[in-house]
Amino acid sequence: MDSEKVIARDNNYILHTYNRNPIVLEKGHGLHAYGPEGQSYLDFTSGIGVNSLGYCDLEWAEAVSRQAHKLQHTSNLYYTAPCSKLAKNLCRRTGLSKVFFANSGAEANEGAIKAARKYSHDRYGDGRSTVITLVNSFHGRTLATLTATGQAGFHQYFGPFNEGFVYAAAGDIDGLTKLVNDRTCAIMLELVQGEGGVVALDPLFVRQVRSLCDEKDLCLIVDEVQTGVGRTGTFLACEQYNLRPDIVTLAKGLGGGLPIGAVLVSDKVAAGMGPGTHGSTFGGNPVVCAGANVVLSRLDERFLAGVREHAAQLRAGLEKLPHVTEVSGLGLMLGVQFEEGIQAADVLAACRERGLLVLTAKTRLRLLPPLVVTAHDIERALVILDEVLCGMDPLHP
Ligand SMILES: *Cc1c(COP(=O)(O)O)cnc(C)c1O
Repeated sequence: MDSEKVIARDNNYILHTYNRNPIVLEKGHGLHAYGPEGQSYLDFTSGIGVNSLGYCDLEWAEAVSRQAHKLQHTSNLYYTAPCSKLAKNLCRRTGLSKVFFANSGAEANEGAIKAARKYSHDRYGDGRSTVITLVNSFHGRTLATLTATGQAGFHQYFGPFNEGFVYAAAGDIDGLTKLVNDRTCAIMLELVQGEGGVVALDPLFVRQVRSLCDEKDLCLIVDEVQTGVGRTGTFLACEQYNLRPDIVTLAKGLGGGLPIGAVLVSDKVAAGMGPGTHGSTFGGNPVVCAGANVVLSRLDERFLAGVREHAAQLRAGLEKLPHVTEVSGLGLMLGVQFEEGIQAADVLAACRERGLLVLTAKTRLRLLPPLVVTAHDIERALVILDEVLCGMDPLHP
């Protein structure tokens, strides 16, 4: 079916909650995606940080298809090997004790909030349930995670919103400390605010948050839905901050393209989450776990060193481009700020015309290439970006 028909049918029947790019993707391999009429795209989006091994990695696709032919789903009433293998490896890689599997980032964050509240309830009783999150954060689209998201634009239309969330400015430890009272149970943050504009938190602020959590026995929830699983050059972004979290959530890159979320918890948090406290029909699905196991097995130290090397190459190249005022982010999660008069959305559209797919976040261009990106792919992307930006004039947009 040609692109025009696919787009017309989609527009007729899909609820219009997304502004899609006006292109159809039909197949892909590695960093490249192809359209029905043979269009070819170099993909620096990874399906928003999801396709960590690129499109249709052979080992990943074979593991997934083998598992689909063997046993596709059991529910959580039974044990399966792919699920327990993934859980063991995630605990080993993160230093946390136990994992709960969900199906998305928002769902993982819901689980994290529940686990923090349960810990607090078991130890301190009712009423100590407020979660402090950061201004400009993004934690998901369910009602609780929308409320947790510290952006007023998300707190419209769908009320009543949940009680029990308050917001502190990133970097302002005094402001945050003032919000803590005898109703506070947790602080939740992203180490690099992704949707909020690709902004990395200040390490000193993060250390101060950890100390505050220790002092008041608050759970520190780190939302690594986007930063986790190698995206920033280490398995968790926490490692680069020397941060010991009580709860970590993962999702996007973990399944290599299939839906999965994970809530990783420390011993003290795990203790409260007994049978019946939480659940999911699909969570821990063996096909999805088989894919995630391949992602984890590939992300060894050597692979992660490659991610850091390529991230440095990409960052240095971006800093040299015309009209660029700042490159933000960490590892292969980068934001590019332009001079006034250059709109990131216009850069995105012009890149797409030239066969390069990129993202935006707030006023920035955002790059989330697959973790298997090569030096050659980065050179190609930089050449296209350079052409696009050379053709733009901030004074006459
Ligand atoms: C994408 C994202 C989410 C939401 O994940 P979904 O899978 O879309 O529910 C939550 N937190 C962060 C930091 C994210 O980047």
